[in-house]
Amino acid sequence: MVLKMNRRLLLYATLLTPLMLGSLPARAADTIKVAASFSVLGDMVKQIGGDRVEVKTFVGPNGDAHVYEPTPGDAKALVDAKILVVNGLGLEGWMSRLQKSSGFKGKVITATTGIKSRQMEEEEHGKTKKITDPHAWQSLANGRIYVANIRDGLIAADPDGKSTYEANATKFLADIDTVEKDVTEKIAALPATRRKIITTHDAFGYFGATYGMDFIAPEGVSTESEASAKDVAKIIRQIKAEKIPAVFLENVTDHRLLDQIAKETGAKIGGTLFSDALSDERGPAATYLDMFRHNVATLSEALSS
Ligand code: ZN
Repeated sequence: MVLKMNRRLLLYATLLTPLMLGSLPARAADTIKVAASFSVLGDMVKQIGGDRVEVKTFVGPNGDAHVYEPTPGDAKALVDAKILVVNGLGLEGWMSRLQKSSGFKGKVITATTGIKSRQMEEEEHGKTKKITDPHAWQSLANGRIYVANIRDGLIAADPDGKSTYEANATKFLADIDTVEKDVTEKIAALPATRRKIITTHDAFGYFGATYGMDFIAPEGVSTESEASAKDVAKIIRQIKAEKIPAVFLENVTDHRLLDQIAKETGAKIGGTLFSDALSDERGPAATYLDMFRHNVATLSEALSS
């Protein structure tokens, strides 16, 4: 009888302890400080880290991660952080200087580790140069790799949180599956003649390659250099010749160039896509997955008829 009782108590203790620990929010002093270069990564770290992490995101909602200028506050936040999460593939040209100037000594998680990157050729001053497309998050297949890298990096830095990080990542991956099914179906339902569109800069190469669309942009894969008059004239000719139905604005770029292109070609403005940043909390793309939901609904609505 005594033995039975003890066994039962032991069973309760085994079952309840992790549940109780899991339900208690971590105290502020115990949280792991994580810095993320831009809003997409900031959201992923929050989803996977939950209450165990405190996230500082450098390039916030609607910000341009290609051309950011770090502030003294960013350097202070980085040196306090235990982990830095970056995209890599040349997106954050400003990051190595910030790392050096801040004296950051923590771990770096590169979210694109293991991703097959897209190599592009761009013409600049009459010369062709090879360039890596950094916008890998725009394919949900790559998003899964981002999630796994962030999960494993958090576990390595904070082994006590392993079960939390694993559970949150598993839920995130299941949500990616659900959204990806919807994205695939909605894009596949578009008529073949309406799957070529224009955006300001080349941010949707991975999206196009994964889901079967062509995105053409007057600016290249970075927003750093402006489109030349020659680039714009070429796109205007192409829109007319190929009867490209619509141009889409981006939340991180100036609208004027595409307004001008739409006016000169008669292509309609299909709406605003979230490319390199999420919206603020009240906007339509406050999380990584909301960004996909919004973008696909916008494309589908503008192009299905
Ligand atoms: Zn970009």
